[in-house]
Amino acid sequence: MRVMVTGGAGYIGAHTSHLLAGRGDFVLIADDLSTGSRARVADFPLLEVDLAEPASVAVVADAIRTHRIDSVIHFAARKQVAESVERPAWYYQQNVGSISNLILALEVEKTCPRLVFSSTAAVYGQAGGVIDENRQPAPVNPYGASKLAGEQLIDATAAAWPLSAASLRYFNVGGSSRAELADTGASNLIPIIMDQLISGQRPGIFGSDYDTPDGSCVRDYVHVADVAEAHLVVLDWLVGHTGHDVMNVGTGTGTSVLEMVRALMDISGIRAEPQTLPRRPGDAAEVVAAVGRIATETGWQARFALDDIVASAWDARLHASVASGPV
Ligand code: UDP
Repeated sequence: MRVMVTGGAGYIGAHTSHLLAGRGDFVLIADDLSTGSRARVADFPLLEVDLAEPASVAVVADAIRTHRIDSVIHFAARKQVAESVERPAWYYQQNVGSISNLILALEVEKTCPRLVFSSTAAVYGQAGGVIDENRQPAPVNPYGASKLAGEQLIDATAAAWPLSAASLRYFNVGGSSRAELADTGASNLIPIIMDQLISGQRPGIFGSDYDTPDGSCVRDYVHVADVAEAHLVVLDWLVGHTGHDVMNVGTGTGTSVLEMVRALMDISGIRAEPQTLPRRPGDAAEVVAAVGRIATETGWQARFALDDIVASAWDARLHASVASGPV
């Protein structure tokens, strides 16, 4: 295939680009490098473009024609929940603007029939338990809402002309395939706990009185290499399918915050007594993906276990420390 990967300089986008190239697909990365890194782009051709700018429509349409692109995977987006709460209009401008402009570019010649959209379990909002795709979306922050708006736009587009599209709702993505592709700007559980262990702080657990086996919140952690592979499998599956499908991407298995902290202590060899902090507002006790749809439709299922996620995240963290000096 000949694939344009928007946001290919980002964490999941770069993992996916390398996997596509590894199987022989042509990859054009479209990225403004605002949060992505040039190191992750390696020697892929790079279209440096801000998709949220209306002027990007002509630039992207031209690139699709020049490079004979037949598939797009759209990762380019803002993804910080707290930032989205502070700047909602900007989040809509960025995330809804970029998918709108991308679709306008696809519509110029309609020669690229496949689109995979990077969505998120945040569209489910505070819903808890094992969540399947029929759960009514109810995002509770502008980030989740902007992603849901993207899905809705794709839905309407796939009804308007024969676009084959899928939105992948990721659960908690972690780990890394190679140190240089690691997530460097993340503000979620695994990087936070690694930083706390390295700097000699006690890991902070947001709430220990939830209705879960050990009282801490349960999430579905999925290895980024599995997530990347899901994009390839879904892209292939789109050949011969029209319309827009939504699929969860997770493992179907829950891990508690305390279990995650213990796994990180085991891999790092650093011991520290976790401390219970107040509950974080908006957290559901348990958020686990129902993964039946993607497995049944496409055959994809996660292959990596929690140990692989934790070990690869720790390796990448050490590598980053070596690269930037002592921690
Ligand atoms: N969490 C925690 N301590 C931290 C960061 C996160 O206990 O320092 C918990 C958080 O309350 C949630 C889980 O870890 O239950 C995963 O949080 P994260 O922000 O990584 O992802 P979310 O599931 O909220 O998207």
